[in-house]
Amino acid sequence: MKQYLQTSEEVLQALKSRKDGLSDAEASKRQEENGKNKLREEKKDSVAVRFINQLKDPMIIILMIAAVISGITAAYSGESFADVIIIMAVVVINSVLGVYQESKAEKAIEALQAISAATSKVMRDGRIQVVKSEDLVVGDVIVLEAGDSVPADARLLDSASLKIEEAALTGESVPVDKVIEVLYLGDQKDISLGDRKNMVYMGSAVVYGRGTAMVTAIGMDTEMGKIADAITQAKDNQTPLQIKLNQLSKVLSWLVLGICVFIFGISLIRLNMDGGITGTGVLNTFMVAVSLAVAAIPEGLAAVVTIVLSIGVTKMSKQNAIIRKLTAVETLGCTQVICSDKTGTLTQNKMTVVDQFGLDEPLLGRAMTLCNDAYLNEDNKAEGEPTEAALVNYGFSLGLAKDEMEKKTPRVGEAPFDSGRKLMSTIHQMADGSFEQYTKGAPDVLVAHCTTYWDGSSQKPMTDEMKKKIGSANKSLADQALRVLSAAFRAWDTMPQEQTPGYLEQELCFIGLTGMIDPIRPEVKPAIEECKAAGIRTVMITGDHRDTAVAIAKQLGIIIDDSEAITGAQLNDISDEQLSEDIVKYSVYARVQPEHKVRIVKAWQNKDMIVAMTGDGVNDAPSIKTADIGVGMGITGTDVTKNVADMVLADDNFATIVHAVREGRRIYDNIRKAIQFLISSNLSEVLSIFVATLLGFVILKPVHLLWINLITDSFPAIALGMEAEEADTMNNPPRKSNEGIFAGGLGFDVIWQGTMVTAVTLAAYFIGHFMEAGVWEITNSPDGMTMAFLTLSMAEMFHSLNMRSRRQSIFLMKKRNKFLFMAMAASLLLTTMVIAVPPLAAAFQFEPISFKEYFVAMGLAFMVIPIVEVVKFFQRKYEPKQAA
Ligand code: ATP
Repeated sequence: MKQYLQTSEEVLQALKSRKDGLSDAEASKRQEENGKNKLREEKKDSVAVRFINQLKDPMIIILMIAAVISGITAAYSGESFADVIIIMAVVVINSVLGVYQESKAEKAIEALQAISAATSKVMRDGRIQVVKSEDLVVGDVIVLEAGDSVPADARLLDSASLKIEEAALTGESVPVDKVIEVLYLGDQKDISLGDRKNMVYMGSAVVYGRGTAMVTAIGMDTEMGKIADAITQAKDNQTPLQIKLNQLSKVLSWLVLGICVFIFGISLIRLNMDGGITGTGVLNTFMVAVSLAVAAIPEGLAAVVTIVLSIGVTKMSKQNAIIRKLTAVETLGCTQVICSDKTGTLTQNKMTVVDQFGLDEPLLGRAMTLCNDAYLNEDNKAEGEPTEAALVNYGFSLGLAKDEMEKKTPRVGEAPFDSGRKLMSTIHQMADGSFEQYTKGAPDVLVAHCTTYWDGSSQKPMTDEMKKKIGSANKSLADQALRVLSAAFRAWDTMPQEQTPGYLEQELCFIGLTGMIDPIRPEVKPAIEECKAAGIRTVMITGDHRDTAVAIAKQLGIIIDDSEAITGAQLNDISDEQLSEDIVKYSVYARVQPEHKVRIVKAWQNKDMIVAMTGDGVNDAPSIKTADIGVGMGITGTDVTKNVADMVLADDNFATIVHAVREGRRIYDNIRKAIQFLISSNLSEVLSIFVATLLGFVILKPVHLLWINLITDSFPAIALGMEAEEADTMNNPPRKSNEGIFAGGLGFDVIWQGTMVTAVTLAAYFIGHFMEAGVWEITNSPDGMTMAFLTLSMAEMFHSLNMRSRRQSIFLMKKRNKFLFMAMAASLLLTTMVIAVPPLAAAFQFEPISFKEYFVAMGLAFMVIPIVEVVKFFQRKYEPKQAA
């Protein structure tokens, strides 16, 4: 039987549940039987498949072909198979590292998804509990509020003006009004999904009102499960940097290929001159070209970026910034404006009523307590939304216990709060059968709906004088940075015909005001100062009153003068064009509606600014989507906003955004350091081979290049990604978002540093030959080759140390990078091993070298440190200060 054709009692019976929900024990039993409330996920690749995927890389294929060709020639000519073994070893090690990195990155992302897993409010054991949505079972009674996403298919039991947006299922974006009554088929065969008004479906969102519903289907049995048989989780898009790097890799690959063909050609001509082209001769040249290609194409770049990003987001999540879209990490570093909510983000959202205004405090307390969704727990402490809880506590301090009052005068109707209207109303049945309505909300809005006021004993007509009095009371409370709420009532002889805000919220009788303190978060002020130093503008956006907002903004150092604040009403009078022009004038927006937030974001974006915007309420989704960095609130935020956010703050704290920006800058800086390191290293390898080939000697064998490039280079590159931020990271203006990879002189640095490493490598070659043969000459030299290998590897290793900072002296860096030291140790060990362990040295065709030669090679390699230090010194002196 279809549940929408049954009464809710019938459905409860059929699913063996009750209006107050299942017991914990029953729920676990049902979960054991029927499984979790999850949609089937795409199957993950096995390790073997991942390994094979690594082998599909074009460079690896070239390498394997090279291995096969040299294997065949070795078999025919009776030479050793050392080359084949080394190439294959490099291929395997590289692929294993690749698989390892990939799964580590994936695990990091999965862990993040687990942190941000959706939760639902459910009635279990007779009370409301928050559980992971995947733990819901059929028969559970769930509680739905504005902003929640519906976690399963369910039949409604209660609906207080519940409106649901079901676009994900029906394509219809206009919210549907939900009811609890049975639906009738009439003469139709079935009722279409969009018309099943007493049901709610997984994947839709509550946009207004409240309700409870009983779960009728979970996981793949839901309507969502039926259409999305195996939902392919949206693959994380590539970040702009990753895209740019891929393009760069392509360009470089072609360039290198060109150089390879050139070198291959020159070598063939030389062979021809030297006495004819032979099979082995051609093979050797081919191998040089191949290894050059493999050595020079920076395919490690993409891997380094992925791993640095994933480690970065894990670190950020530990600092309460949960990144939902990888692209956000890069954009964070470019952030120029942070638009932040006030309540809970800049302040603690720990409200306490400290002052009041009115002529009948008990009535004020009664109205504030009854028109309220918070409740008293066993210890008589209020629980619920902080503003509401403060008011229930206030009532209790006046001797008004909410639960007892609700028993005597139960709530029979309501118009729920929404931040656009800034009001909330409830209707209560009195003992004599009449009805009383209480309305609370923003004073400036509420007073406009009041035609009378309560003087302590009777209703008096509202006068201009009284309005003025209320206005100045409001202002004096707000000027003390208090959040002011007002209350009113309206008496009804019979139950009001309609429960719409428009019908209820008129002809009200004003009762009074409460002022509540919401202390600012102590960490916010320093964070705002940090933003200032980092060239980032902080903007406060709040639904609260202008005077309250201004008082708090001044305390925080966001503004100095009142003229920097503007209200939503004033915004309504300004055109978008005008706003785009004036946007820089304002840092406080008060009494705004959620729609205003979109205008504010767009106005900044029109000025080419990168904007972060926070949001929590159901209506904040559009502005979060529009912002470059949409920031959701982990504690107070609704599902709807969290789902569209790029980043979610686990602690709702403004300071966390600033930490995240700093991390974003650090990560980007580090990726650039790794890029500079890898490309300059690759360049030095290509240049060395290029020069040697032109001059007609072999400086390094293909396997040497492979070893350096694919084994010893990757550790320092990744370690550079773990660098701590530099001292001045937050003292520079934000990076421009359209900046290329080579911006800030990185291209020039790569070229001269690559040339420098080439120079010391060539020097090592000739000195090596001189130390062995006693003459300076251009010829093939085994000792020279060994020394060149040692110098090149070690120069790159030392150069990774240089890269800890692009401009600062490494001797002045306070923080250590233990990963880099470990990576350098690994490089040193591996390099020394292939030179000094006889069987390995033989396989790599290295000559044993003396201690003296070893130290000379090391000394030459070390030269890169003083050289770079001197250049950095001049760069610091003469270069204009640049973005981090
Ligand atoms: P922010 O935008 O910084 O979070 P806010 O919490 O004041 O500020 P809203 O939640 O949109 O923003 O509230 C707007 C106004 O509505 C408040 O200033 C207050 O006057 C009123 N208000 C807030 N909560 C309630 C409530 N539960 N019942 C009635 N009125 C409320």
